[in-house]
Amino acid sequence: MIWKKTWSSIRWKIVFIYFLLVFIATTIIGIFIMNQLESYYMDSVRDNLTRIVHKSGMITSLSEYDDLNKHKDEIQDNIDAWTKGFEGEIFVVNDDYQIIASNNENVIESNAIDLLDKNVVVQGLNGEKAESNGLTTTQKQTKNLGFPISNLDTKGVLYLRSDLTSIYKTINRSKEIFVKAMVLALFITVVLGFIIAKSITVPINDVTEKAEKMAQGDFSQEVSVKSDDEIGRLAEMFNFLRMQLTLTLSEISNEKTKLETILRYMTDGLIAVSLTGNIIHANPAAMKMLHISEDDIKNKNYDDIIKDYNSNLILENLMKNSEGSGSEENFDYTGCTFAVRYGKFKDENDLDVGIIMMIQDITARQKLENMQMDFVANVSHELKTPLTSIKSYTETLMDGGVEDKEIAQSFLKIIDVEADRMNRLVKDLLQLSRLDYQQEKLFKKDSNLISLLKSVVTKVELTVKNKNQHLNCIFDINSKVMVVIDKDRMEQVFLNVLSNAIKYTQDGGRIDIDVIKKDSKAEIIITDNGIGISEAEIPRVFERFYRVDKARSRAMGGTGLGLAISKQIVEEHNGGITIESKEGKGTKAIIILPLAPMRGIRNIE
Ligand code: ADP
Repeated sequence: MIWKKTWSSIRWKIVFIYFLLVFIATTIIGIFIMNQLESYYMDSVRDNLTRIVHKSGMITSLSEYDDLNKHKDEIQDNIDAWTKGFEGEIFVVNDDYQIIASNNENVIESNAIDLLDKNVVVQGLNGEKAESNGLTTTQKQTKNLGFPISNLDTKGVLYLRSDLTSIYKTINRSKEIFVKAMVLALFITVVLGFIIAKSITVPINDVTEKAEKMAQGDFSQEVSVKSDDEIGRLAEMFNFLRMQLTLTLSEISNEKTKLETILRYMTDGLIAVSLTGNIIHANPAAMKMLHISEDDIKNKNYDDIIKDYNSNLILENLMKNSEGSGSEENFDYTGCTFAVRYGKFKDENDLDVGIIMMIQDITARQKLENMQMDFVANVSHELKTPLTSIKSYTETLMDGGVEDKEIAQSFLKIIDVEADRMNRLVKDLLQLSRLDYQQEKLFKKDSNLISLLKSVVTKVELTVKNKNQHLNCIFDINSKVMVVIDKDRMEQVFLNVLSNAIKYTQDGGRIDIDVIKKDSKAEIIITDNGIGISEAEIPRVFERFYRVDKARSRAMGGTGLGLAISKQIVEEHNGGITIESKEGKGTKAIIILPLAPMRGIRNIE
């Protein structure tokens, strides 16, 4: 693999291409030069032989003989004279293919066909000039030229043979030199090619290596730009790309973190489900609402989880119902109401990827809606009862009841009581509404709680006496506990709580009022040993119109709004009110108010 990678590298490709180019070029040049050299030598040999023949006038002389055979000796003498200083061989061949004269005495009278190139001899005898390259019997390279000797009576050939050994030796030597030069050139080419290829591949490898590291998530890579050519531009572009990628990735990561934070801290639950029913994402709120863990998300199918809550919410139904702009569904679980809104989410090709659902805890909203409905029902009911009573007594009076003065008197008294009840109710409702809209103006000022409580006690004293109850002020009536309050409103609160204690405590019962200073706060504790409130009902007594025993409360003139108003007033004073009670044993109402700053910190003496 590594071997393959090395050899498939562009470096070796460049070296190979350079090598091939130089090899082909030098080979072509070599072949061309060698051919030219050879033909040059051949031409010069031919020219030399032809020049000797023409210069000596051999052909003309030989053509004058009527019979070559008869003048053999004369011809031999002439040949000897003509060829003085001539290194080649010369033969005169008659028409019987016999060598009749030659500067090589050993071949005289020999058969020309055996010793010389037959074609050249035959062509010469046919009156044509002929030429050939050939090998002698001793394997020597030669150049053969045949010149026809012809007149009316006789025919022959003047045959010249020149040894080419030294020429071929020179050519071969040239070839040798050329091959050596070619090898050297190829070697230099390979070395140069390697250096050039390296200058290209090193920066490319650098970019590749750094791109590889970037792919693994390391974006600190920077390529050094060493030139302003294409490779330099590549390095420059790589650095630019890295910078852009880092920027884009950091933007994406910021967006992701932002989204994750939103999802993590949003109070609504969010779940993304794939088409196969896998939960792709569930934020902590959703996990809490559906009571599921990370393991459930990984291992459980969405349908298996949701069908315990609402079988309408299985994936198949969601897909079916979410065609269009999405749908809504509610479910109740462990006393809470959840609203689920959902819709499909798609990929960039507009293909469905899954479902996104938002789960909202609407328990409080639902409760509020219920409370509003109850409130309207309660108000209507509370008004209807006295109205019915007033209407019926009025009708009776109009039907003649007024004649009987005594009956008329008692009826009018009842009508008056019912009208008073309605008046109280409307007054309480108006006050609650003002408190709700914070229109009730509180005139807060430093006041002594003790003197306020004393005046409240004075106001209820007669009622207490009528019920033979014992009202005990445990606090020191001469002490001072300073609080910043709207005296009238707080008096209303104390009167209401104290009246409740009196109302819901049987005749002869006991009611204690105490004031304690604790951590810059004053606690007013009103305890009775009356009928008490069951544990389940304690949290509800502050609700509007809530009455534990409706008939009893109404009989005592209660509207069911007293504690609701009290709570709101106390809270407006940055305080609180709580009820502790045991059914049949009695009730303890604790009102906490902040002490007036600096001025109120005095011990109760
Ligand atoms: P009401 O006008 O009916 O007294 P409140 O809002 O003052 O309305 O009180 C609400 C209900 O709380 C009462 O109807 C009564 O059932 C219960 N409650 C309040 N104080 C006491 C108490 N001291 N002992 C027993 N029950 C009480």
